[in-house]
Amino acid sequence: MPSPGEGTGVLYIVGSGPGNPDQMTGQALRAIRDSEYVIGNDSYLAPLTHLLSGKKVIRSSMGKEVERAKEAVSLARDHPVAMVSGGDPGVYGMASIVLEVAQHAGSGVRIEVIPGVTAATASASRLGSPLSGDFAVISLSDLLTPMEVIEERLMHAFAMGIPVVLYNPKSRGRPHNFARAMEIAARFCEPDTPLGLVRNAFREGETVEIITLGEVAALEDKVDMHSTVIVGGRESRIWMVDEDVRRIITPRGYHRKYVY
Ligand code: SAH
Repeated sequence: MPSPGEGTGVLYIVGSGPGNPDQMTGQALRAIRDSEYVIGNDSYLAPLTHLLSGKKVIRSSMGKEVERAKEAVSLARDHPVAMVSGGDPGVYGMASIVLEVAQHAGSGVRIEVIPGVTAATASASRLGSPLSGDFAVISLSDLLTPMEVIEERLMHAFAMGIPVVLYNPKSRGRPHNFARAMEIAARFCEPDTPLGLVRNAFREGETVEIITLGEVAALEDKVDMHSTVIVGGRESRIWMVDEDVRRIITPRGYHRKYVY
């Protein structure tokens, strides 16, 4: 049975944004400052080194999420704990597994989910404004979701004609999922549909490319696990600002109401 009020601890599940403290919220920074323990993957903790002095830091590795969640829930009975999760913790992040573990344990620990800037909106901002209206978000990682399910979701998403954001587009373990997704996109979208690729948004090594869906084969090698891909919708277009600068615009529909 849950035992509300048990211990004196608290567990903050902190969204650390795309990878630079500048993109973290004040609430996220405060939660880390107020915590005795900070738990997280090394790649999320590295940019926060200056916030970690005097803290008990528990660094964990990818693939150990369940153990990390259990440890955090257990420590948070008696201590303030910050579990750091990249981007937004509720978007392909640690929030759900921590809540599940706490529910299964019948834990009464106080848990606060602190939102962060997710890769979709961080990447969109680098591309212009591709996600101005309705859009869909799909992860191409088949570690926790079968590929058939992902393919079915891709079909439905591209059939809607709205922009589609692809997380986890490629990794060494799944080199073909991105090409498969692009085949599905090509069945529903015109070849001149804008496509944006953002690698390492707001962190070292950032690259931004804007091309069309018909040209995507040329980008295939640049897509990796640090990338987010946004395929535009039926109304999205590319603004060629000049020779070197492009922007993706998905109109919200003001042109249907106003003259400008
Ligand atoms: N919780 C995270 C997503 C974790 S899934 C969030 O809300 O952003 C990991 C995937 O997120 C990566 O494979 C990549 O597709 C995307 N991603 C995370 N950070 C990124 C960044 N700085 N630039 C581009 N893509 C990023």
